[in-house]
Amino acid sequence: MEKDNTNSDFLHVGNKILDWYKNNARDLPFRQTKDPYKIWICEIVFQQTRIAQGLNHYNNFIKRFPDVKTLAEAEENEVLLYWKGLGYYSRAINIHIAAQQIMNDYQGVFPAQYEEILKLKGVGKYTAAAVSSICFGGKMPAVDGNFYRVLSRLFADNFDISNSRAFTYFSELATLVIPDNVGDFNQAMMDIGSEICKPKNPLCGECPVNDDCLAFSMQKVSEYPVKTKKVKAENLALTYYFVHKNGKFLIRQRKDDFIWKKLFEFPTAIPVEMESFITSSRTINHKLTHKNLSVEIFNVEVSSEILWNDFIAENQYLITDVEGSHEKSFPKPLENYIQNSLKD
Ligand code: SF4
Repeated sequence: MEKDNTNSDFLHVGNKILDWYKNNARDLPFRQTKDPYKIWICEIVFQQTRIAQGLNHYNNFIKRFPDVKTLAEAEENEVLLYWKGLGYYSRAINIHIAAQQIMNDYQGVFPAQYEEILKLKGVGKYTAAAVSSICFGGKMPAVDGNFYRVLSRLFADNFDISNSRAFTYFSELATLVIPDNVGDFNQAMMDIGSEICKPKNPLCGECPVNDDCLAFSMQKVSEYPVKTKKVKAENLALTYYFVHKNGKFLIRQRKDDFIWKKLFEFPTAIPVEMESFITSSRTINHKLTHKNLSVEIFNVEVSSEILWNDFIAENQYLITDVEGSHEKSFPKPLENYIQNSLKD
């Protein structure tokens, strides 16, 4: 919701945060620009990836796709390739679709209004608020986990952040402290949340608003934010066959599946006649959000030309090798398996 804090007693808190930001803003490449395309990409990249981890990927991505048009016209597989290493590939698929949306629905001009940005594929309220406030002077707080944490500690507020109304609740709370420059304030909260008011061991001594922080004054910082509901991770077992012959192996692209959408994978079944070629198997455990995967990969070294050709023809597999696989995006466990297959 739009800010209306004209009568707020807490505005000085927001101003302190803003003052702190003027001298302490992190020197990040996307801080030098107001280009909504770049800010949008950076918001999506860093949603689930730490800055240090994702910075090179962000720079490479922007170098290859410097604007909406270039991204919209690119092949989806190339976009996925440039996303390699960042994980959560549905983000890459969505930004590709959103770039095409901007070309088709907005004549290639990035929309400026919060409500319009929100219509782009894969863009949620947080990203729409961040882009509109940083690039177009929008007034919406970019409420995310950082806001939840800092605000619940500042006000020693017990509102449960796992409650489905948490976003609305903290958006309203945010209006009490937000100064006029919402774009800088949103960025300041990102920095305070990740550098100072950290989930564990916050640096309260260095915090610009420690005088105003209720949780700090009551020495109850570790009790906030309140979160009751823990999402239980589901266990999932997957089986793959690394079918190879003379250094070549078989792959195919996943469809719009529930995980690893559009990434490449090994065959998930082989004919009975091929089972005698299995030489070993390896199980790789891998965590996704809300899923614990156990991925068993059988090594199938095929020596029969006829079986190899029939299997490919029947299933329309693609043939690649380790070098060629660098041009494709694989789920992490399969990527690791391919790299290790080099050493076997
Ligand atoms: S004083 Fe500590 S708990 Fe309070 S906002 Fe600052 S860093 Fe967070």
